[in-house]
Parts: sequence; structure tokens; C-alpha cells
Amino acid sequence: MTDKSKITPHMLIVCGPSGTGKSTLLGHLLSHRQTCCLSRSTTTRAPRGTEQNGVEYDFVDIETFQKRIENNEFAEYANVFGNYYGTPHEMIRSTVEEKGLDVLFDIDVQGARQLRAQYPGVWCVLIAPPSFEVLEKRLRSRGTDAPEVIERRLNTARQELAQTDLFDFTIVNDVLDVSCSQICALYDALRLRNR
Ligand code: 5GP
Repeated sequence: MTDKSKITPHMLIVCGPSGTGKSTLLGHLLSHRQTCCLSRSTTTRAPRGTEQNGVEYDFVDIETFQKRIENNEFAEYANVFGNYYGTPHEMIRSTVEEKGLDVLFDIDVQGARQLRAQYPGVWCVLIAPPSFEVLEKRLRSRGTDAPEVIERRLNTARQELAQTDLFDFTIVNDVLDVSCSQICALYDALRLRNR
């Protein structure tokens, strides 16, 4: 028999440049599978729009974040687009041990590498655009970012997509229904894993 206590908790990192539909796919998975939840990160960036402290993120100032780094409170952290983001160890522990849920992470590639180093059984999936041209078109048509921000996002996207060694799986998000089925299938397979 497999000793289930030795298995890394079911953890799935979902990476992908903005504009690939990562949040939509995560939302689909969360609404179709009741055994998982999204890890809530801590960040130094200011809340946007209707975002609330303790819901989308735990919003803290830079001094608080730095203190938590010194206290070794983060399983991973990174500076993304000029702001700090991190996953508290406590978030993972309470989700797995107290709630008994699997954990999904919406984090960048720097954080994904750090988590993978600590939890060898964690799976990492890249949500990729059908092509770079499509990604550029999606970002420009959203109309939410200034041209220089779009340029920066595209450069980051290029670097992220090139890190092929990091990703165990790739979902090319072309037809949304297909990608939704694929992320659910991937999560279901993760739960069947033996090591
Ligand atoms: P946003 O500010 O748009 O919510 O997120 C910006 C980027 O930060 C996204 O690519 C998101 O995946 C990443 N991010 C969010 N939380 C974390 C985290 O805890 N750690 C790391 N490394 N990246 C994160």
C-alpha cells in the first residue's frame, strides 16, 4: 500500500503571463472542484478597484513585508512589477492541515521555482497564449494598461514562456471550453498521484 502520509500535499501552481486567461481558468476549476482553494498571497501593492484586504490579498506595507521575510514567514516571495508578493507558510499549512483542502497557487515564475524546490511533488502548469501575436492583441484590446505597461508585460511574458524547464504541463488557452476541461483533468490527475 502507498503510505499517503509521505505524499506532498496536492498543490498546483498555475503560471502564465497576464492576458492568457489564467484567472478565468482558475475560477472555473474552483467552481467545479470543491476539494481545492486558492492560496491568498501577501502583497505590498495597493488594492485595486473593489479589492479588499483579506479577500484577494493581504495588503501590507513594505516594512511589514520585510519583517516577515526576516522572520522567514514566506514559503516563497518575489518582486513582481515593482511590488512584493509572497505566500505565507501558514497559508499552506492551515489550508492543508486544518481545512483539508488542496492548494492552488497563482504566482509568478520566480515564486514557482522557490515552491518547487521545497515541495518536490508540486505540479506546475503554464497557461500559454496560442501565439505571441494573440497575447499582444488581447492585452491591447483590454484597454486597461498604458502602452508602456503593455510593453513591459510583453517582455515579462517572453521571459516567462521561455522557462520551459519549470513547467510540468502546458495548457494553450485557445478555445476556452477545451482549456477549462484540461485544467480540471490535470487537477483530477494530481489527486490520483502516488508520489
Ligand atoms: P496582480 O498584481 O495583477 O494581482 O499580480 C501580479 C503578478 O503577481 C501575477 O503574475 C501573479 O501571479 C503574481 N503573484 C501574485 N501573488 C504572488 C505570490 O504570492 N508570489 C509570487 N511570486 N507571485 C505572485
